Amino acid sequence: MTEARRHSVAASLQAVRARIDAACEASGRDRADVRLVAVSKFHDAAAVRAAYDAGQRAFGENYVQELCAKSAALADCSGIEWHVIGHLQRNKARDVVARAAMVHTVDSARLASALDRQCAEQGRALPVLVQVNVAGESQKSGCAPHELSAVLDACAGLANVRVRGLMTVPPERDEAAESLRYFEMLASLRDAHGGPSALPELSMGMTHDLEYAVRAGATLLRVGTAIFGARSPHSPASPR
Ligand SMILES: *Cc1c(COP(=O)(O)O)cnc(C)c1O
Repeated sequence: MTEARRHSVAASLQAVRARIDAACEASGRDRADVRLVAVSKFHDAAAVRAAYDAGQRAFGENYVQELCAKSAALADCSGIEWHVIGHLQRNKARDVVARAAMVHTVDSARLASALDRQCAEQGRALPVLVQVNVAGESQKSGCAPHELSAVLDACAGLANVRVRGLMTVPPERDEAAESLRYFEMLASLRDAHGGPSALPELSMGMTHDLEYAVRAGATLLRVGTAIFGARSPHSPASPR
């Protein structure tokens, strides 16, 4: 990685932080309640390290293979946190539990129990979020809003998996403002299931719509492109 590329990651990160500051200011949110998860999928370990050196600690990965490779390459980075933000298969639970600080994409009782069993074997607790497909898109991961109660109930019976909140990926739209209603739907679902004391985290908002997410109450923003630049056009870059 060139020095210029390292500088560009640091500068982009700074610009994203400024956007978050401004969004918090505009919506009267406490800046300390909003954390940035830098989404590093398809970007190499050197790019992650550049962001780490610029003070970023939480990184989001969609694919377990990339998570394993980058967490190994960056094992010397103390305090680094890996967030799993992609659709997860149960047979990957072992690798995830060994590495992740948080899993944002629990969408079934079966996945939650697979993670819980691995936690028991590895002797740790795992904070998770339940992913909700608020718009009911057929291609998208996440439980349906009407399934949320059942997933939360199932998780409540697990010893090691701790549900900390909800996550969503809204439909792709040209207008960022169109994301707002989906973010508000997630916030309403949270209110219908115990409110902020039961589910303190809302993971929502990406590069183009983070301001609307902050407005609707996001506590975890998942931002990739604005920090690391465009992903390879050959890669399946769209979140599901
Ligand atoms: C890739 C991805 C992001 C980041 O999207 P950007 O538009 O690059 O900021 C956020 N969330 C999920 C689930 C993703 O897959």
